[in-house]
Amino acid sequence: MSKTVAVIKGDGIGPEIMDATLRVLEALECGLEYEEIEAGLGALEKHGTLIPQASLDAIAKHGVALKGPLTTPVGKGFSSINVQLRRHFDLYANVRPAISFPGTRSRYEDIDLITVRENTEGAYLAEGQSLSEDGETALATIKVTRSGSERIVRYAFELARSKGRKKVTAVHKANIIKSSSGLFLEVAREVAKDYPEIEFQEMIVDNACMQLVMNPHQFDVVVTTNLFGDILSDLCAGLVGGLGLAPGANIGKEAAIFEAVHGSAPDIAGQKLANPCALLLAAADMLDHLGMIDKGTKIRTAIRAVLERDRARVTPDMGGSGTTDTFADALVEYC
Ligand code: NAD
Repeated sequence: MSKTVAVIKGDGIGPEIMDATLRVLEALECGLEYEEIEAGLGALEKHGTLIPQASLDAIAKHGVALKGPLTTPVGKGFSSINVQLRRHFDLYANVRPAISFPGTRSRYEDIDLITVRENTEGAYLAEGQSLSEDGETALATIKVTRSGSERIVRYAFELARSKGRKKVTAVHKANIIKSSSGLFLEVAREVAKDYPEIEFQEMIVDNACMQLVMNPHQFDVVVTTNLFGDILSDLCAGLVGGLGLAPGANIGKEAAIFEAVHGSAPDIAGQKLANPCALLLAAADMLDHLGMIDKGTKIRTAIRAVLERDRARVTPDMGGSGTTDTFADALVEYC
């Protein structure tokens, strides 16, 4: 029986880059079926909610979703759909690879590292935030649990093992935040003992920032808590030339949602100027997740080939004079 993927086309440039991505997936003959589901501004207009129950049910049923970027309306009462989805499906691992591609504006070549960020606890608890009535004192709670730390560190080591990676670096601030960051580090050390073939390194977050900028090639897989992971993964995206080629996955036990890291880019929506590669790389990670590693590799190889040999057809953000469609045409040819 073929596998079905729930597809959220998204807002702004979402539909354009999703159509391009689905064209490439069709050309690869992955044997997947797609069920388009509603979420975002369209769903809000039609159903009064950013993510209708039917869409949540479809993701739960299929277990895998490919998601275009969604606009979060500015104003009170709107919490980001991404945060809602993470909570609803307990998507505890945010996996963000940073891989160099040719011809991107970047200080480094040959970067190939993965940030694994804890996605459900840490400093990002809505219920842990408060402001005193006089507006003078704000409090935020950091929650780290043994079980939450164990599952994210284990996820990072399992990922390293499955991808033949050599080293896992646990990033922390246990010297100062001794309780929460200390617990995370203690658990990381324990879990590391189960993976003797993989080198374990621990690094304080401020040093990790400097080391990533000065000598990023020393890193392989980085695992860390929610807030540090959010910041470090963007730093890593900067090492490979920005968000245009940055995919992200949100993984839980029951569901996994793959997406581009960038947003809905309202400034270029509808103009066919959007680069489809970040979403396409997310799709490649989705194929890996579904066990179709050869197909995922084909996508990455095709992107590399088009960037090297066919720059006229790529989008302006990559230095080309093409459109989303010409970029997709070239990718289909190289697949
Ligand atoms: P953005 O990532 O949408 O855009 C930042 C800049 O990068 C813009 O100049 C844009 O044109 C450019 N850009 C982004 N993606 C591009 C692509 N594929 N090709 C070429 N250029 C691209 O960030 P923003 O403007 O701060 O946010 C816009 C909306 O997106 C907001 O409503 C925000 O909440 C939402 N957002 C959603 C997600 C998500 O769904 N995962 C992530 C980030 C932001």
